[in-house]
Amino acid sequence: KKRVYRFGNKATDGNSKMKNLLGGKGANLAEMSSIGIPVPPGFTITTDVCTEYNLLGQETVIEMIKEEVEESISNIESFMGTSFGDKNNPLLVSVRSGARVSMPGMMDTVLNLGMNDEVVEGLAKKTNNEPFAWDSYRRFIQMYGGVVLGMKPASKEDIDPFEEIMEHLKEKRGIHLDTEFTIQDLKDLVYDFKDTVKKRTGHDFPTNPWEQLWGAIIAVFNSWNGDRAVYYRNIHGYPANWGTAVNVQAMVYGNMGDNSGTGVCFTRDAGTGENVFNGEYLINAQGEDVVAGVRTPQQITKLGSERWAELAKVEEDDRAANYPSLQELMPSIFKELDYYQGTLEKHYRDMQDMEFTIQDGKLWILQTRNGKRTGAAMVKIAVDLLKEKMIDEKEAILLLEANKLDELLHPIFDPSALKRSHVIAQGLPASPGAATGKIVFFADEANKYKNTILVRIETSPEDLEGMNIAKGILTARGGMTSHAAVVARGMGKCCISGAGALKINYKNRTLTVDDHEYHEGDWISLNGSTGNIIEGKVATMEPELSGEFAEVMKLADKYAIMKVRTNADSPKDAKVARSFGAQGIGLTRTEHMFFEVDRIKAMREMILADTVKGRKQALEDLLPMQRADFEGIFKEMEGLSVTIRLLDPPLHEFVPHQLATQKELAEDMHISLQAVKNKVAELEEFNPMLGHRGCRLGNTYPEITEMQTRAIIEAAINLKERGVVCKPEIMVPLVGTVKEFETQEQIIRATANKIFEERNDTIEFLIGTMIEVPRAALMADLIAEKADFFSFGTNDLTQMTFGYSRDDAGKFLPIYLKKGILKVDPFEVLDQEGVGQLVKMGTERGRSTKPNLKVGICGEHGGEPSSVEFCYKTGMDYVSCSPYRVPIARLVSAQAAI
Ligand code: ADP
Ligand code: MG
Ligand code: MG
Repeated sequence: KKRVYRFGNKATDGNSKMKNLLGGKGANLAEMSSIGIPVPPGFTITTDVCTEYNLLGQETVIEMIKEEVEESISNIESFMGTSFGDKNNPLLVSVRSGARVSMPGMMDTVLNLGMNDEVVEGLAKKTNNEPFAWDSYRRFIQMYGGVVLGMKPASKEDIDPFEEIMEHLKEKRGIHLDTEFTIQDLKDLVYDFKDTVKKRTGHDFPTNPWEQLWGAIIAVFNSWNGDRAVYYRNIHGYPANWGTAVNVQAMVYGNMGDNSGTGVCFTRDAGTGENVFNGEYLINAQGEDVVAGVRTPQQITKLGSERWAELAKVEEDDRAANYPSLQELMPSIFKELDYYQGTLEKHYRDMQDMEFTIQDGKLWILQTRNGKRTGAAMVKIAVDLLKEKMIDEKEAILLLEANKLDELLHPIFDPSALKRSHVIAQGLPASPGAATGKIVFFADEANKYKNTILVRIETSPEDLEGMNIAKGILTARGGMTSHAAVVARGMGKCCISGAGALKINYKNRTLTVDDHEYHEGDWISLNGSTGNIIEGKVATMEPELSGEFAEVMKLADKYAIMKVRTNADSPKDAKVARSFGAQGIGLTRTEHMFFEVDRIKAMREMILADTVKGRKQALEDLLPMQRADFEGIFKEMEGLSVTIRLLDPPLHEFVPHQLATQKELAEDMHISLQAVKNKVAELEEFNPMLGHRGCRLGNTYPEITEMQTRAIIEAAINLKERGVVCKPEIMVPLVGTVKEFETQEQIIRATANKIFEERNDTIEFLIGTMIEVPRAALMADLIAEKADFFSFGTNDLTQMTFGYSRDDAGKFLPIYLKKGILKVDPFEVLDQEGVGQLVKMGTERGRSTKPNLKVGICGEHGGEPSSVEFCYKTGMDYVSCSPYRVPIARLVSAQAAI
C-alpha cells in the first residue's frame, strides 16, 4: 500500500481528485505542479495513515512509513540541491496539515524545520544573509514549541510565551516591528526561547532534524483530534475517521529581505463576489504573518490599495510611498501572479483562495483552494461564472451551498436609523452584515449575554466556538485576509477587522476609542458592509434581495422536481413565504390563531363548557374569526394548495394557570373560581404529548371539527364568489388507526355537504392525514385507501420513534451529542436510518393502495438540506418548511434532482 505521494516539478503522484486520500491541500499541490505552476517540491502522507496512527499508535506507524518518507526527503534534496540536516547546505521543510475539506487554521503547521545551532550558521553563510537565518530559527523554535512541545499561553488573559519574550525585547529596545530586530536581538531571542522551552517542558529543544521531523508529523496527526479541529468538525458534521494528511515541503523563504515577501489572494471578492483579483502581502515576511496581522498588510492590486487607503484614511502620497501595492512595487511578479490566478480559477472553475511566497525575486505558489465566501458572494459568483460560460447551469446550482442562502435573508440596518447613529470608529469591512450586541472580550464568554459582539485585538483558531456564537466580530488588528475575516466570511458572520483606533485592554475588559471608554456588556453595532462601528443598538429591517438571488432561484426551479411549500399560520407568513417562492402551504396550525388575546377567551369558554350546547355556543363565537383567518391565507395563496391542520394540542395548553387569570375567567363566565380550578386540574395530564390531543380531540368533541371545517369551507366559497381560486386541504392530525381517520372524515364531509346545500355552491377540497404516530406508518396502506394525502409530521414521528420527549430532551440530548452517542440532534436533522424507514415504508405502503397518493413532509426537517434531499429520494411531492427556509429547500430540491 502506498502511503506517501510526491509532488513538485511536474513529477507528481497525485491530483486534485484525490482529496479524500491526500487532503485538499496535498491534492491541490499535486494538481498545481502537474499543470506547471511553480510549487516547492514535497510529499504528502495520506489521511489513511492518520487513521492508522489513531488505531495503531506512533511506533507502528513510523515503522510503516519510515522508508517512504526517507526516500521522499532525498527526492526533495535532489530537486533542491540541498541536504536535510547538512550544516553547510541545509534543506529546511515545512510540515503542514491538510484534511479533505479545508479547515482554515484548525490544525497545525511548522515552518523552517531542520534548524539547529549549526544549521543556522551554515544557512547564514550560504545565503550571506545572517538576519534571515536567525529570523528563520527563532520562528522555527516558536512554531515547533507551540505545535509540538505544547508551549501555549498559561491563561486566556496571557499571551503566547514566545510573543511575551519578543514584546519585552521590543520594549527594551524601543522598537515596534519584528523586522527591526538586530542580528544580536534575534540570537538573544533564540537563546531565550530555548531557555523557556527547557524550563517549561524540562527537556532541551531537539536538535536532530529527523527527530524534529517525526515530532512534527505526529503533532499534525494529533492536531486532527485537537479541541479546535473537533469543534470545527462537529459544527460541520465531518466524521472523525476522515483524518488529516501531512504535507512535507521544501521551504521557500519570504523573509530574505526587501526582495522577498509572502501573501494571500483571492480570484474574486469573497465578501461581495465582485470579479476583482484582490489580496494582501507583506515584504520580508513568512507564513502566517499576513493572516495573523503582525504588521499592516499591503494590497496586491493598485485598485485594492486605493480602496484600502480611502477606508484607512491614508493620504495618497503616504499610500504610494509606504503602502504600495504589489502591482506597483514588483510589477513583473504581480503579472506572473495575476496569470496564475486566472489559470487556477479557470482550471478549478471556481473562485480560488491562494497563498504565495516571493523568495528573492522568484514567485512560488504554496496553496490554492476553492475560497470561502459569504452567501451574497456565493450567489454572485455562481451567476457570474455562468454568464462568463466558465460553468453550465447545473454546475452553477451545485456551486451553491443551500444553508448559506440564509444569510441573504437576514435583517440589515434600517437606513434611517443608521443616519441617526453615532459612528465611533471605522475598520475594514471584512464580512458584510448587520450585528448588534453587547461587548465581550473573550471567545469563551460569547454566550454571557443573549446577543454579543466579540471584540478582540485579533482572533485565533481557539476562538472559533465563540465566534460562532457571537452576533459579530470586531478586531483591532489584521487585514481583509486575517483569521477573523476569513473565518467570519465562512460563517456568514458580520466582521470588522483592523480597526486601528481601538485600544483593547483584556485585563480591565475595556475598549477605548479617542478617550471614550466602553465596557464589557455595553451595546455596540457593526456594519460589516462599510466597516462602521456604531455606539449602542441600531434598528434593523428586512433585506432587499438582489437580482442574482432571483436568478439562481429561477434556475433552481427549472431543475427542481419536488415542490416546496411553507408552514404558515397567518396571512403575513403566507405572504413572506410566497415572496420567497413557496408553492403552497403544507401546514397551517389552527391553534396558533386561538392563542391571540381576544380569542383565547372564547376558546376557554368552549373548553370550560360542561355541555355540548355550551361548547357549541362558544364555538359559534370562534367561527367568524377562524373563517376570516382562512380567507386571508387563501387570498395570499391564491391558486395554490393550502393544507390546514385541525386542532392539535391538548386543551390544557389553553386554560389559565395563574390565579389572577383564573379569577378573571370565573367572573367573565359567571362561575365560581373553584369550578375553573377544577377544570384546569381535570385537564392536567401526565404525558400531554401522548394524551388527549390531535384527532383524539375531534373524535371526543366532534363539534370542534365541525366548526373548523365550516370555517375552512365557508372561507373558500366566499372567496370563490369573489373570483379567488382556493385549494383547501384539510388535514387530520395524530391518526393511528384507520377508524380514527374515518370518523373525522365523515364529520368533515357531512359538514361540507351541509354548507354546499346552504350556499348552493360547491368547492373542491382534499381530506388527508398526518403520519406522525409510528402505527400510522405501519398501517399506511389501509389509511391511504381513505386519505387523499399524507403529510409526514416528522417532529412527532421522531419524538415517538425515539421515545424522546421533545420538551424534556434538553436534559440529555446535549450530553448525548457531546459523548457521540448521537451524531446529530434528530429533531434538527431527520434520522434517515431509523425514523427514515418509517417515512419510506409509509410512503411505499400508502402508494401500494393509492398509487397517486400525494405525499409531503411538514416537520422542521422540511427545511434542512440533508433531510430535504432524503425526501426527494423517498419520492415525496413536496416538502414544507418555515418561510425563511423556502429558498434553501428550493435549491436543495434542484440539487437533488441534478
Ligand atoms: P493553514 O492550513 O493553516 O493555512 P499552511 O500549511 O497553509 O497552514 O501553512 C501556514 C503558512 O505557512 C501559510 O502562509 C503557508 O503559505 C506557509 N507555508 C507553508 N509551507 C511553506 C513552505 N514550504 N515555504 C514557505 N511558506 C510555507
Ligand atoms: Mg494555508
Ligand atoms: Mg404533530
